[in-house]
Amino acid sequence: MSETNLLLIRGATILAGHDAAGTVEGDILIRGREIAAVGTVPPLPPGAALREIDGRGRLAAPGLVNAHMHSQSATMAGFGDALSHPAFMWLTQAHTARRTPEETRLAVLLAAIQAITTGTTALIDHFPGQRFATADVDAALAAWEESGLRVALGLRFFDGLFADIQANGAGLPADVAALATGAGLLAPHPLAELKEQMPDLVARWHKRGGRLQVFPAPSNPDRCSDEALLFCAELAERHDLGIHTHLLETRAQARIARERYGTSTLVHLEALGILSERWSCAHAIWLEDDDIALMAERRAIAVHNPESNARIGAGRMRTPEMQAAGIPIALGTDGPGANDNLVMQEAMRATALAHRADLPDRRDWVTARDALRMATAGGAGALRLGGRLGRIAPGQLADLTLYRLDAPWWRPLNDAAAQLVFAETGAAVTTVIVDGRVVLDEGVITTFDAPGVLGEIEAMTASLRRRNADLFAAADAIARALP
Ligand SMILES: [Zn+2]
Repeated sequence: MSETNLLLIRGATILAGHDAAGTVEGDILIRGREIAAVGTVPPLPPGAALREIDGRGRLAAPGLVNAHMHSQSATMAGFGDALSHPAFMWLTQAHTARRTPEETRLAVLLAAIQAITTGTTALIDHFPGQRFATADVDAALAAWEESGLRVALGLRFFDGLFADIQANGAGLPADVAALATGAGLLAPHPLAELKEQMPDLVARWHKRGGRLQVFPAPSNPDRCSDEALLFCAELAERHDLGIHTHLLETRAQARIARERYGTSTLVHLEALGILSERWSCAHAIWLEDDDIALMAERRAIAVHNPESNARIGAGRMRTPEMQAAGIPIALGTDGPGANDNLVMQEAMRATALAHRADLPDRRDWVTARDALRMATAGGAGALRLGGRLGRIAPGQLADLTLYRLDAPWWRPLNDAAAQLVFAETGAAVTTVIVDGRVVLDEGVITTFDAPGVLGEIEAMTASLRRRNADLFAAADAIARALP
């Protein structure tokens, strides 16, 4: 995109950010990738603007950042109600393993449709769920590039045991356990191979087109060797990358870390000398008090996934205490396998509501504005774009969303931040701009053939169900065998 491209939104109701006292009526001028001016923009010379958008009757708000999701499970909405975490993980294997690059593309674009149409402009995709081939990651990144979204792809790997899943599997009847292990899906990814793949993927994709990033991303530190974690930290330092991971999502993971390290996972990362602000840690549920202090001190980011945590019964993040301790917090939906949609407004709402009944002093509550901060500026931090993304202000990256204010939940306009969190569901989104480019135009995705993608999903999943019949049988048997 030429730096001289101008996009002008005229006469919108602007919510500049989570800390704005209220809305202002005004114009937004976008030059190239950035917001150039907010307020009253003088008439431009005829033909100067690439496009003028009528913002009257629209709320302009910062685009939302989904700081933890899994594109590979985009096809799993509605599956596996009331499963244990290990059973859920095996079901996810059945749905996501053995995909072709074209199926990976379709899953990414299915996720992209939902993100774009509900006003999410940036996300972290923790991809994939198995040992990856470079071609799988290339397919995912090419699809994200096609989508027009701002994306950090976390190269998800494990070079150790998936002990939190397999240990539970060990209690299964022998024939059921054999079904699961016989597929060989959770075989460790050899570190020597990762050391070839990761730098190559970073070199070819990181910062490509200005919107894509590539982060090393342990599936979970407890599923990785120390050598692999040190390799991630070194790669991240060398290229100024973030590091994304799951962290202490389940009780079993906390127990396994104690057994393995004699301490918590966070204290172990600190002992390795690698815990820093580069880390964004999804879930972060089973933290000790010392862990909270350590995360705050190191400025490591917690990515809260309130709906997924509730859906699979993982636990509840200690959000009010972690916020009070000063831990930077971002928000995620998690993948549709664990939370059936990618609607960030719902994640914000769940965040603000989850703890209120437990906290007699309402000053401890997470407010709508806290949740909006997590979903904007907090997510920007997880994407290593802190200070550059998450507000509608001059100099910020031009990622923003327009909502139609004639939707009934916006009438009357009482408090835009509170209504965005408590009342909006993504249904009033009309227009989405990412990196200065209109990717949703009056409800129509401009960057790829969204109806075409939707039309291919049923056949794709039917084909996967046939191909992975053995894995679905194993997942069913495990779900029945585990409490
Ligand atoms: Zn996850």
